[in-house]
Amino acid sequence: MGQLSSIVRVALPIRHWSLFDYRCEPVIEIGTRVLVPFGRRKMVGIVIEHAEYSDLPLDRLRYIDTALDSIPALSASLVETLKWIARYYQQPIGDVISTALPKAVRRGRPLQPKFGVVYRLTEAGLEADTESLSRAPVQKAVFEVLKNVSEPLGPQAFEHAGRSWKGALKALETRGYVKTEPRFIEPELHEQQLIDDLMPQQAQARATILQSLDKHQCFLIQGVTGSGKTEVYLHVISKVLEAGGQALMLVPEIGLSPQLEQRVQHALGVAVTSYHSGLTDKQRHKSWWLALSGAAKVVIGTRSAVFLPFRNLKVIVLDEEHDTSFKQQERVRYHARSVALHRAAQEKFPIIFGTATPSLETVHAARAGRAQTLLLPERATRAPMPTVNLIDLGRDYSRDGLTVRLLDEIRNRIMAGEQSLIFINRRGFAPVVVCLTCQWTAICPNCDSRLIYHHSDNRLHCHLCMQRSALISQCPQCLSDQVQLLGVGTQRVEEVLQRAIPGARVMRIDRDTTQSYSEFERKLKRIQDGDVDILVGTQMLSKGHHFPNVTLVGILNVDQGFYSMDFRAMEHLVQQVLQVAGRAGRAEKPGEVYIQTMHPDSAYFDCIRQHDYLSFADLELMQRRKAVQPPFSRYVLLRSNSLKPGQEIEYLRQARSIARSIVQKQGNSQVRVFDIVQSPIQKISNRFRAQLLLGSVAYTPLKQFLDAWIPQLEKIPKKGKLRWNLDVDPVDFS
Ligand code: ADP
Ligand code: ZN
Ligand code: ZN
Repeated sequence: MGQLSSIVRVALPIRHWSLFDYRCEPVIEIGTRVLVPFGRRKMVGIVIEHAEYSDLPLDRLRYIDTALDSIPALSASLVETLKWIARYYQQPIGDVISTALPKAVRRGRPLQPKFGVVYRLTEAGLEADTESLSRAPVQKAVFEVLKNVSEPLGPQAFEHAGRSWKGALKALETRGYVKTEPRFIEPELHEQQLIDDLMPQQAQARATILQSLDKHQCFLIQGVTGSGKTEVYLHVISKVLEAGGQALMLVPEIGLSPQLEQRVQHALGVAVTSYHSGLTDKQRHKSWWLALSGAAKVVIGTRSAVFLPFRNLKVIVLDEEHDTSFKQQERVRYHARSVALHRAAQEKFPIIFGTATPSLETVHAARAGRAQTLLLPERATRAPMPTVNLIDLGRDYSRDGLTVRLLDEIRNRIMAGEQSLIFINRRGFAPVVVCLTCQWTAICPNCDSRLIYHHSDNRLHCHLCMQRSALISQCPQCLSDQVQLLGVGTQRVEEVLQRAIPGARVMRIDRDTTQSYSEFERKLKRIQDGDVDILVGTQMLSKGHHFPNVTLVGILNVDQGFYSMDFRAMEHLVQQVLQVAGRAGRAEKPGEVYIQTMHPDSAYFDCIRQHDYLSFADLELMQRRKAVQPPFSRYVLLRSNSLKPGQEIEYLRQARSIARSIVQKQGNSQVRVFDIVQSPIQKISNRFRAQLLLGSVAYTPLKQFLDAWIPQLEKIPKKGKLRWNLDVDPVDFS
């Protein structure tokens, strides 16, 4: 056994589960980057813990080479949050650390990236007389540019002072008149422009949150699009800034738009720093450092911004709380909502969730008293909520997926000079087989489950017993040949619309046609300018944007939600429908929504028609409670994939039998091990995929089980190119 002296535990940015012990003299602060010997190499790591003893004998412990910085790269409380992520999500600490650090920082480059420079006058410069420079005209011109402003200026400000402006700046620096500073962030813009006249509920929400500014509390602002949620966030953030704090605003992947940045910038009068996957590594490093140095007052970012090392973070706003893009689906599979909540509790500041359609997890948490709900029931824009109409696909059918009635309504809008938006819910990947005459659906003879069409082999699959059968073209019940795969893609809808309404200007917005933010912004501009009659799109359209001239919203393919394997399919469906519905119309031109469905009598649609999300939540929570699904239990999904079919299943079989024996040995009756199934998307990039679900009502027994199970998973021999991953609180079951 080793003994006292300074031992530190270091996380290295590699896929490794444990920390590495090193000696150091004197002790190095937690969160500091260090250079350590590792095998024959040197590696950059982060000090995660201090220890008095090591399991290794002291003489085998190596010394840290050096601390790389004089300040920690991560605060001790952020390190705590990262450790929690590793524990809770069962991910290697090395991977978690890698996820939290910009590439340059991981690689040992300076914490502070290179910024451009700005020039300002020194004391001597401020006192100097312009005439003293009359014999150097360019220097004089440059000097005058600086004399006329109080802010430091970037190089482009001097370009008109004469061709040798660079040399002139150098000369003025030598004289001691001018000095340079790194350009961290654009200077303050102007005064705050917050809306003073908050509506009563907004004012109340604001007052309630402001009472808790210096402690941890979770708030849920529930209000439809346009109810003024963002305005409340801005008021709260403004108070946080006044007190010298920093604010983080987390937004969904595609919702991050220059529009929002500009609005925040104008409202608060400070520069906004952004952080998302559309930035280069270097830009991300800059934002990261601005957060660490305290120079960034407000950061707007997507999920990974939750790891930024703020110097004095005092509030997190998580907008569109229900959005699934907050869940990371690869490598470290964390949910930014849970991480943000944990971080806010750890660092003792309030967190605000905002949405029209909260996740059922959050509704449940609010009812249990873990979040305080603040309702904004009215639109600040005074636009009424749209009316919702159902089109019964059983009666009003058109072969191409668009009903005659919907097409007629679209034509009417075009004649009135208004726009239509056709939304296709792409969730629930696999189409189901339905007879359009008698509504028979293909069901597995062995199980009570609907057969699902798979592209890969052009056959119908049962996801419970894995039996496959041929695709059917005639209905066995009524012998009609109106048997269809329910499920139409955006591309097909675009074609159909163009054929059905010649001359209509159709624009498609989905991941295939719209890959960058700038492209998306350009398209939005064309919609605003009225260059488009019909918009066809996926969920990209349901987020963050308002289309005042859109007066019709058509929603296709909602029925997949009724058949999906994913227990959250219905929740996502209702959220999406209400979200898109809320995008349309304005006071003088209210919107109308048309939903095509085979199930017009479903109680879910009553809730949608009345814009009553909470009744839906009640209905659905009742189902979940009965089925013991989250939020009434916790799930863990073990996925595997391999190039050779069968190996993925074989791996899960072994994992499952180990799981069963652990459950038995621990006497752990709480943990339920489900059956192994092929994934709904059975093959991706030539890899065959399968999954094994586990569940438990309580967390502690599940954790106890996982702690025993995962080290064993590592030991199962991996045949061929098999890969596996573990997803705690999975969101994606495809
Ligand atoms: P949400 O975030 O809920 O979609 P916003 O805060 O974006 O709502 O508000 C929608 C629109 O209404 C914005 O144009 C905003 O400037 C305006 N708005 C918000 N609050 C008020 C208010 N109290 N008075 C007037 N306009 C408001
Ligand atoms: Zn039939
Ligand atoms: Zn079956």
